[in-house]
Amino acid sequence: MNNNRYKILVIEDESNIRSFAKTILEANDYQVLTADTCGSGIMMFSSHRPDLVLLDLGLPDKDGLEFIRTIRKQQESTPVLVLSARTGETDKVEALDLGANDYITKPFGTAELMARVRAALRISQYSSNPSLMPDGKFKLHDLVIDYDRRIITIAGEEIKLTQTEYNILVLLARHTGKVLTYATIIREVWGPSDDGGVKKLQVNMANLRKKLGEKPGDNRYIINELGVGYRMCEESQE
Ligand code: CA
Repeated sequence: MNNNRYKILVIEDESNIRSFAKTILEANDYQVLTADTCGSGIMMFSSHRPDLVLLDLGLPDKDGLEFIRTIRKQQESTPVLVLSARTGETDKVEALDLGANDYITKPFGTAELMARVRAALRISQYSSNPSLMPDGKFKLHDLVIDYDRRIITIAGEEIKLTQTEYNILVLLARHTGKVLTYATIIREVWGPSDDGGVKKLQVNMANLRKKLGEKPGDNRYIINELGVGYRMCEESQE
């Protein structure tokens, strides 16, 4: 028995989904803890310090959002993946804005669950260890961001970006694999006092993607998560 396994807390009141997730995760050598209410989830989180949380939002005692609010007060970095219903667009956005890392739409399959879990664990290690990018450059396929010189190249050709486009690209790159909501990007790029931002963001994003040579529906670098936000692709998705 390997004692060095990642510990994952599954908070879900529907027993079939809970045991499905538990079975898959255990088969992939993760250690699994489960809770079926928000309150017991918070207690399990505090006493066991899991490496990752899978969180249903519709829980019998409290809203799952309450879990995120509570744990983010104690702890910034543990990844939280929200298990959301297909129709819960507003909930998803609110959860991401409160500090959830990603969401998985129900019903989900084994491959999708495992891909999201691995990505979230990888990102959380990556951001706690910036030395993984030793030469100060971000690379994705043929795209390179040279942070020191503040230039972007694709296959060695420099791409001229405006300051805003550069800032958006760098923000997404710093959170590769993670969905950033419209509100998060607007706050980070234009500051907290900016309003009327989504349209402005979409215009900048369209220009940025055009300069990167991306056509609509082409997800080589940036994925448009409709109604939610944007995500920088991971190399491994190709
Ligand atoms: Ca539920």
